[in-house]
Amino acid sequence: MSDDACVFCELIESGDGVWVAREGLAAAFLTLPTGALAPGHTLVVPTAHCVGVLDASPESLAATTALVQRVSVAMTRALGATGVVVLNASGPFSGQTVGHLHFHVVPRWPDDDAELWPSDRSSHAPIPDAGELLAAVLR
Ligand SMILES: [Zn+2]
Repeated sequence: MSDDACVFCELIESGDGVWVAREGLAAAFLTLPTGALAPGHTLVVPTAHCVGVLDASPESLAATTALVQRVSVAMTRALGATGVVVLNASGPFSGQTVGHLHFHVVPRWPDDDAELWPSDRSSHAPIPDAGELLAAVLR
């Protein structure tokens, strides 16, 4: 997806939306009310286009996740949330719906009666040596 066709790049450029933070490398805005999982549900994005965590530059990802933390803390201070759920999907068949890296930060309260953590389990064939395979690539 090119920058020109990206809805989040267009949003960043236009300034439309309810912005809670706009910084050099990352920005945060309220999701549309129709899609909000909770009051204050916020999307945190890098200001430079990348599709997801698989292609983000380390600098962009670091700035974005640092803003995820600051937004999360703000939710506890400003909204009285007791915790947050942070959600991201990156890459084909991940469930990603907008091809610009974004983290959903959803505030939680004891009385919200929401089940926001995935409860399904993958039906993909077991990979018994998954830990060893990952460690070998990361060495
Ligand atoms: Zn974009």
